[in-house]
Amino acid sequence: SWGSLSDKNVYDWSSEEEEPDGRARPIQVLLVKDDHTFELDEAALSRILLSEEVRDREVVAISVAGAFRKGKSFLMDFMLRYMYNHASENWLGNPEEPLTGFSWRGGSERETTGIQIWSEVFLVDKPDGRKVAVLLMDTQGTFDSQSTLRDSATVFALSTMISSMQLFTEYGRLAMEETFLKPFQSMIFLVRDWSFPYEFPYGQEGGMKFLEKRLKISENQHEELQNVRKHIHSCFTNISCFLMPHPGLKVATNPHFDGRIKEIDGEFINNLTVLVPWLLSPRNIDVKEINGSKITCRGLLEYFKAYIKIYQG
Ligand code: GDP
Ligand code: MG
Repeated sequence: SWGSLSDKNVYDWSSEEEEPDGRARPIQVLLVKDDHTFELDEAALSRILLSEEVRDREVVAISVAGAFRKGKSFLMDFMLRYMYNHASENWLGNPEEPLTGFSWRGGSERETTGIQIWSEVFLVDKPDGRKVAVLLMDTQGTFDSQSTLRDSATVFALSTMISSMQLFTEYGRLAMEETFLKPFQSMIFLVRDWSFPYEFPYGQEGGMKFLEKRLKISENQHEELQNVRKHIHSCFTNISCFLMPHPGLKVATNPHFDGRIKEIDGEFINNLTVLVPWLLSPRNIDVKEINGSKITCRGLLEYFKAYIKIYQG
């Protein structure tokens, strides 16, 4: 039993977080402060997860993790476009339309470490007739010092614990931290700017072969690396990998690039039209499970709060 939330918490529904025009936007729900403490914006999270249409729906929680400037928000915005276009054939839409959603940008100035979630939770009909709630999360880590590395590992561990599927845009360092507590669902390593398609082709199959090679445990590896590999295998029910081509120079370097498809390399777009439906199509999305039970939005909120307490120690 989750107890009664409504009598314990009085939410200020009219705080300044509420967008006047009611448009969906990213909400910072977890913040890592300069003193390395964590702050959960419980009110903001509750507003999203306890809204009447979604609170009792089983939840599919999807997160993207990785260091900053790895194209996470950029990718998330394509996922949003897919969701808003109802997984239709032409979900990519107008090639001249700027890409909006989570803020993505170039430059080296870094953003707040933490977790943002999209304020609109999407209701999706699975082919088996169940209606599920899809929550998209963007995470931000930093790896510039030992202490921020710890913060990031904690942010990623938290986002992993509350997701049914997590994409990770880089791997290696995170997994060395001993922050994973129990088995998780799906982990997808997304390798960007893959430049050896003749060795391992773009996409999921090439990714799997690449991953098999990279995750193979061999005796002449450093013990720590062997442990990382064993750990990854023991933590996730499904591990996969997707190799993405480089999106082209405009995306990578032009400060005026606004995300329009027209200016992105065709090969990248081709793979994007494979990747996004593979992640998000109604038949592929998985409800978040904890200890074998399916979790609703309301349940996820409680887990979020409980996990934060663990890290706040
Ligand atoms: P985030 O910090 O991980 O959320 O990264 P952003 O999504 O804000 O993107 C940072 C920069 O990388 C932007 O200038 C994007 O145009 C660019 N970018 C996005 N995807 C890719 C990619 O796959 N490869 C390269 N090289 N750049 C990318
Ligand atoms: Mg970002």
